[in-house]
Amino acid sequence: MLYIVTGANRGLGLEFTRQLLARGHRVFATARNLEQAEELRTLASSAPDALQLFTLDIADPTSIAAFAKTCADHTIDVLINNAGILERGGTLGALDYEAIERGFQVNTMGTLRLTEALLPALRRSQGAKIVNLSSKMGSIAENTSGGSYAYRASKAALNMVTRSLALDLAAEGIIAFVVHPGWVLTDMGGPNALIDAQTSISNLLHVIDRAGPETSGTFQEWQGNTIAW
Ligand code: NDP
Repeated sequence: MLYIVTGANRGLGLEFTRQLLARGHRVFATARNLEQAEELRTLASSAPDALQLFTLDIADPTSIAAFAKTCADHTIDVLINNAGILERGGTLGALDYEAIERGFQVNTMGTLRLTEALLPALRRSQGAKIVNLSSKMGSIAENTSGGSYAYRASKAALNMVTRSLALDLAAEGIIAFVVHPGWVLTDMGGPNALIDAQTSISNLLHVIDRAGPETSGTFQEWQGNTIAW
């Protein structure tokens, strides 16, 4: 099985890559800046046949096109769209529209553009899976505290594009769904987070393994429950 993991140089992306390799899968792991991705490069030198590294900035259409070209002759079984940014976008009365735009560019459009570009390679798999890292903060039903306009809206929009992908690709046997990894101890999650990356990812990999057509177009959390949109 070939997995793609974006934003694999740190945080959840690095942990996805570690655990997938430990399970014996092949991984194409991507990072914006491979020179600075020391842990990922160390991992690659210990598993040169299973792990290949690629430069990819999902906010840059040219970078996406170049990566998609590299993948053109491969069969992608699982695309894990992990890369994302936490832009809060200021507070009401002093909203930062450039930050809001950056949130959409990476979290929503970057993820969608990459997915679209990789469709030919996903179509070669018998039952490909597209897994988009969303957040409970992107759930309208779960929003009880307001604020975080940029992050919440960009992830809510990601939820919507994932639902459309699920419907548009259903006839081809490709499933697409979003996951909430929990509140995880990474640079983004910060020091007060509730679970470590290892716990989050081992649980998420079970969710991904189990996912079938009935999972497509749904919002799953790390413990296997469905989250309301
Ligand atoms: P981190 O901030 O620790 O890591 C984010 C990763 O995304 C980095 O590898 C970063 O690369 C990469 N990235 C950012 N922008 C781009 C871009 N334009 N192109 C390619 N890669 C990019 O975040 P986490 O590991 O914690 O989060 C991973 C995913 O999980 C995100 O989508 C996040 O929204 C989601 N999530 C995380 C939660 C948590 O508690 N941690 C909770 C809910 C959701 P670089 O090093 O170059 O910046």
